[in-house]
Amino acid sequence: MSGLDNIRNEIDEVDRELTELFEKRMGLVKKVADYKKKNNLPITNSKREKEVIAKNISYLKNKELSKVLETFFINLIDVSKSLEEDEIGSQREKNFEIYGLLGEKLGHSFSPEIHKFVFEKSYKKAIYNLFEVPKDKLKEAIEGFKLINSKGINVTIPYKTEVIEFLDYISKEAKSIGAVNTLKFSENKLSGYNTDYIGFGKMLEKFKVEVKDSTCVVLGSGGAAKAVVQYISDNKCKKLYIVSRSPEKASREFSKFEVIDYKELENLENGDVIINCTPAGMFPKIGVSPVNKEVVAKFKAAVDLIYNPLETEFLRYARESKIKAVNGLYMLVGQAVASEEIWNDISIDEEVVDEIYQNLIEKVGGHDEK
Ligand code: NAP
Repeated sequence: MSGLDNIRNEIDEVDRELTELFEKRMGLVKKVADYKKKNNLPITNSKREKEVIAKNISYLKNKELSKVLETFFINLIDVSKSLEEDEIGSQREKNFEIYGLLGEKLGHSFSPEIHKFVFEKSYKKAIYNLFEVPKDKLKEAIEGFKLINSKGINVTIPYKTEVIEFLDYISKEAKSIGAVNTLKFSENKLSGYNTDYIGFGKMLEKFKVEVKDSTCVVLGSGGAAKAVVQYISDNKCKKLYIVSRSPEKASREFSKFEVIDYKELENLENGDVIINCTPAGMFPKIGVSPVNKEVVAKFKAAVDLIYNPLETEFLRYARESKIKAVNGLYMLVGQAVASEEIWNDISIDEEVVDEIYQNLIEKVGGHDEK
């Protein structure tokens, strides 16, 4: 027997052991698939995949093999995921889930695209529709969602407050804010949440905008401002001003906070974060800002809830003043993903949020914030 034959014999023995281990691993993968099916969990878990690869590379005695082992595990994980997909797929196809956005006039919305991405990531058969409903048909619409067995509906202008009277449960944040943008239907119970609050928090975290112990200014006194004000106050800012064109009226809605007008804002000392919660500068009426450049330059960071265009006039002032500028696209994705988490009792990786965000950035055709 030649030297090569001896080596090949040894390889055959190693392969036999590998096959035995492979079979054992696939048996466990089927158990994971079964658990994910029962709990409606997504197949892909990027964080866990990275951990598995890193852990196994750390076991290597010969670190020169790191790259090869990484490729081996990437392929092994792919094979495992396609087995999970086969196991889960047929079951989920039967349960076609219905989600959507409820509003009076919806026009173009990025929401279907964001949710479609989440469905694809979790290999879920589901649709996300736009439901334009006139004011006098709101009650019928809610009953209709129950009849078609919808799992969840997002709510936008002008129904974020109106839907509250139909709820059996309202989350703590939504109650304090007085607005609901996420409805969850489960076992004849209707629950309401505010994921604008959550999405805003995800965006601040992502772009490292600190509100704790900071002086913050919120422009506008509408629905979005309410969620933002609640988040900032829950996260222990040092000082918070709400700026309104009609401060007297706004003071009635924000009775616990200091409401000022735009003239008073111009006379304020420097602050930390200024947040635009008005529609000024939004497509198609671009090129205007609720405040001038001198005001923006007094802050360390400017955040605009508007995401179309990605760089509003307000954010252009911020960029030119060399302060941090963050647009509202990450918040939009963050609030949509938070709704999915609530509807399906799951936790979605930050990597998925980032991936959707990057995809949309390319579609909107702008540039990423720095
Ligand atoms: P809204 O209820 O219409 O309120 C906006 C507030 O802005 C008004 O209450 C008003 O406050 C002020 N305002 C309105 N027009 C103005 C103008 N031309 N100049 C200056 N101030 C003006 O709207 P919203 O639902 O709060 O939404 C506000 C913005 O946030 C919109 O652009 C929306 O697209 C965006 N948004 C983004 C996200 C996201 O996920 N990124 C989520 C929610 C909302 P005063 O009368 O007190 O001045």
